Amino acid sequence: MATIQTPAHPYVDVVEEIQQLKKELDAVILAHYYQEGEIQEIADITGDSLKLAREATKTSASTIVFCGVHFMAETAKILNPEKRVLLPDVQAGCSLADSCPADKLSRYQEMLRINGRKFQTVTYINSTAAVKSLSDWIVTSGNAEEIIRRVPEEYEILFVPDQHLGSYLEEVTGRKMILWNGSCIVHEIFSIQDLLKAKKQYPDSLTIAHPECPANMREHADFIGGTEAMIKYVSGFAEPRDFLVATEANMLWQLQSKHPRHRYLPVPGIACACNKCPHMARNTLEKIRDCMKNGTPEIAWEADFLKARAALERSLLNPPPVASQPPHPQGD
Ligand code: SF4
Repeated sequence: MATIQTPAHPYVDVVEEIQQLKKELDAVILAHYYQEGEIQEIADITGDSLKLAREATKTSASTIVFCGVHFMAETAKILNPEKRVLLPDVQAGCSLADSCPADKLSRYQEMLRINGRKFQTVTYINSTAAVKSLSDWIVTSGNAEEIIRRVPEEYEILFVPDQHLGSYLEEVTGRKMILWNGSCIVHEIFSIQDLLKAKKQYPDSLTIAHPECPANMREHADFIGGTEAMIKYVSGFAEPRDFLVATEANMLWQLQSKHPRHRYLPVPGIACACNKCPHMARNTLEKIRDCMKNGTPEIAWEADFLKARAALERSLLNPPPVASQPPHPQGD
């Protein structure tokens, strides 16, 4: 009698292949909190941009598989020139990074200098290497406040590219800034009406919002912070609570897996039930396997990485003491 072979589940196959390739390549898999849960599950390290940038410098693996978007993998390469950095889908971009092209920023900085403005450029990590190379400081949502406080008072601050994070930083630090007119498509399209409806429906809920959200969303939040800060915030509640979460919807997977006693509800976008980043969504388990099999797409070293590296190291890895200034301010 013929035996019926049960086909293996394709998901299990792909995950096994990835685990095998990881050993063969001496690779580490880093995944951003905005990746699908199944990708975060197979990653060695998950985190926000700041944590992943720092972890990338600590790994002894010779290959970094970066499950995130292009500027993140590029940052990992800048901080690890000797390592091979693979990005599952090279088209995984970022609307925020795209909103500040380096040539446009350079012309704007020049115009400010011609007008006698004494400034330093503080750049959100969601930007290209070329933009980072034009910057004095690089910040993430996790360390932005601290870095802003380090910019000497005699300098104006040109903050790029996220106008909403910039305006939030103005509120919390009291420093006026020149804000670039960029934004993230995901955080910009939350629906205030739906948030207010959800607040009525869950009257005991707490709203947590990312500082990339516009001010009219932040106004209704009980807590504003980046993704690491959100995890820390919910961990402080011993009793189960409902949280309305205003950031990329995959963050709910991370919150749920770290603190499952709570319930997390996505704040809907204007045109959708939840907000997912289309760029992050380009990465799939199959693409992770394929990039490891083929050794491509790989992030290649480029000339402007060196200057970007100096700004990154100064800001993220070895921040100087509060009173000191960056060694080579660009913006005055
Ligand atoms: S969520 Fe927004 S800022 Fe993050 S990668 Fe997507 S478009 Fe860029």
